[in-house]
Amino acid sequence: MDDRLRKDLANWLEFYRELGIEEFYRRDPNALAYTAPVPRSTAPELGGTTLAAHTATPIPQAATGTALTETLAPGAVRPPQMAIAAPAIRPPVPSFSLFETPSRKPAGPETLEQIRADLGDCRRCKLAGGRKTIVFGEGNPHAELVFVGEGPGADEDEQGLPFVGRAGRLLNRMIQMAGMKREEVYICNIVKCRPPGNRTPEKDEIETCSPFLFRQLESIKPRLICCLGAPAVKTVLGIKEGITRIHGQFYDFADAKALATVHPAYVLRNPREEKILREDFEKIRQFLKGI
Ligand code: URA
Repeated sequence: MDDRLRKDLANWLEFYRELGIEEFYRRDPNALAYTAPVPRSTAPELGGTTLAAHTATPIPQAATGTALTETLAPGAVRPPQMAIAAPAIRPPVPSFSLFETPSRKPAGPETLEQIRADLGDCRRCKLAGGRKTIVFGEGNPHAELVFVGEGPGADEDEQGLPFVGRAGRLLNRMIQMAGMKREEVYICNIVKCRPPGNRTPEKDEIETCSPFLFRQLESIKPRLICCLGAPAVKTVLGIKEGITRIHGQFYDFADAKALATVHPAYVLRNPREEKILREDFEKIRQFLKGI
């Protein structure tokens, strides 16, 4: 490389460094930006990455010795680094121009504190206008069990903590039934701000907020994710089927398992359905004990 070219290159690198762009890579001039055929899901793209649509495929369970039903969710939405190992299917490489700074996470493991700091005083979606407090999540950063609810309610919005109202008290009882203490698990929601009137979070709100949930899951690396209610199941697993049909089944989620159950608030409205919650939490207990 001649001196002039070297100097030009050094100036160019300095220029981008001042813009905050530090990482460069060399692209094979003969390679297309992304050539691998990526089957796309028909599911809405959440969290920036949608994996291929899978047909439900029961996988034999060996680890626990119990005959749990494991199914790859149709159109499951997965965080970029928690996808089920599928070497043939690579997520598309995002092609940012040097002038676009992607608001994605840095490479490598993140702590929950870092993710919270990145969330900041979030104004990314319309829920920000109506919230009092961001409810990021609470619990053991290395929990074996993570609960994913829908979104904060009035009590949560007030206190900045997830599941602290009536539904939370029922959840606490169930956690105890599963042989654990609330402090041992991690509890969070698909959206971090209270939807007005406790309505179900909307698609654009979930798309905006769920990458933070996936980053939380990736940071915690739980053994089991318990999705509370249909919106959580749809967001985490891409499953749209009725919760009362698929509850209590174990699904793959990267190296973890995920289980769907009814939302405690649903049980408070339909007390006869507490049986479902009890049965599912018994499965959680057995799974965590390796029974
Ligand atoms: N319902 C939820 O889905 N999440 C909470 O944090 C509280 C109630």
